[in-house]
Amino acid sequence: MTQPTRAEVVVVGAGLAGLAAATRLAAAGRDVLVLEGSDHVGGRLSTDRIDGFVVDRGFQVLNTGYPRVADLDLADLDLGYFRTGARIPGEGTTHRVVDPRSRPTTLPATVTAPIGTLREKAALAAFSVRAGYLPVRRLLAAPERTAEEALRSAGAGGESLDRFLRPFLAGVLLEDGLETSSRYLDLLWRSFVRGRIGLPARGMQAVGEQLAARLPVHALQLGRRVTGVTPGEVRTGSGSVRADAVVVATDPATAAELLPGLPASAPRQVTTHLHVLPTSPWDEPLLVLGRPGGPLVNTVVLTDAQPRYSPDDRALVASSTLAPTREADGREEIARAHGVATTDLAHLTSITVTGAQPAAVPPLELRRPVDLGDGLFVCGDHRDTPSIQGALASGARAARAVLRQLRA
Ligand SMILES: Cc1cc2nc3c(=O)[nH]c(=O)nc-3n(C[C@H](O)[C@H](O)[C@H](O)COP(=O)(O)OP(=O)(O)OC[C@H]3O[C@@H](n4cnc5c(N)ncnc54)[C@H](O)[C@@H]3O)c2cc1C
Repeated sequence: MTQPTRAEVVVVGAGLAGLAAATRLAAAGRDVLVLEGSDHVGGRLSTDRIDGFVVDRGFQVLNTGYPRVADLDLADLDLGYFRTGARIPGEGTTHRVVDPRSRPTTLPATVTAPIGTLREKAALAAFSVRAGYLPVRRLLAAPERTAEEALRSAGAGGESLDRFLRPFLAGVLLEDGLETSSRYLDLLWRSFVRGRIGLPARGMQAVGEQLAARLPVHALQLGRRVTGVTPGEVRTGSGSVRADAVVVATDPATAAELLPGLPASAPRQVTTHLHVLPTSPWDEPLLVLGRPGGPLVNTVVLTDAQPRYSPDDRALVASSTLAPTREADGREEIARAHGVATTDLAHLTSITVTGAQPAAVPPLELRRPVDLGDGLFVCGDHRDTPSIQGALASGARAARAVLRQLRA
């Protein structure tokens, strides 16, 4: 496909933010062109097939509690769900902490699990009610601090913090110091309270593919890396495209290169090791947390939630570490967490993503400006929250800003 020389709006990047912006602009009747540097849509939600297994580039999940999930067709994604909660390793056993709303029979085991005092568990329940049901504006009006300070002052410090909350949140925030903003923690916890955690049958990349399918065929070009952006013009290796508006929807580091003056957020990284087991050792889809101080953040049998990730009855296991690790260094810990022999684990692949998501430390400016003036716009998870929700929401905001400018 040849590269056009003009479009009303050029969107740089076909991650969720760019696709959220482009689909809205196209639906509003605008002539939009999306230039994507890689060979696939979905950006950081990308999926490979290895030996018949569905392998996401890093363990990630779709949280149906995100408000912008309303833009997706969940039935078409055919989600397989995890239970909200976790298995926590103890001395020679594991304890389950499960959201009792999803399975009331787990309540006694959750309440009596030797992870923190009853008072801490009650405090966590109260924290959940507050985050889940207070209006967002009231959550955002609370004084900002670090996630750890917020949890401690809510009464959820102590053992429950170190054995459950810290490793659980480390897998989501990709940091275990809990230095992330309490505002983001509130919004994130709200989505856990209000939604479920799932994996699409065709892998996480299916989320971006679903959005891309809403674009006119000629509106998306893959393999078009943008090398420069100026007001009214975008340059690639194939020449330049003139445009009334340009939306830079890349990862934060590239956005800072293309738009000098835009601050680049510090990136979080994660390494995920994928293994195959002959069958799952568990009877329910639940995350297993790493031990405090151990190399693993978490490990999970993906096929317990989404059987379509395996071509047959074998189980696919994803195990994550924050620091880059070699597979051989984590294997014993992974086997112990699932109660299997190390020889049962067949290594499929390992993936390190260095720019997995931008840090969201205080002071966190939620909803950073997306209209930079002169017909230049920016969106991406670095403009809202470091998440699928943040990417989709920022894309929607950028589209609204572009439409305002085009109408003016
Ligand atoms: C391993 C991992 C686990 C995660 N876990 C979760 C999770 O469980 N829940 C959650 O909500 N979020 C999670 N995230 C974060 C989430 O994936 C991101 O916040 C979100 O996908 C960011 O979308 P985006 O559109 O802002 O950016 P991106 O997805 O980075 O999209 C940017 C696009 O721009 C393209 N691009 C870059 N440079 C150029 C250029 N010069 N020219 C043209 N195109 C270019 C890229 O190829 C890419 O397609 C995780 C991320 C990773 C990597």
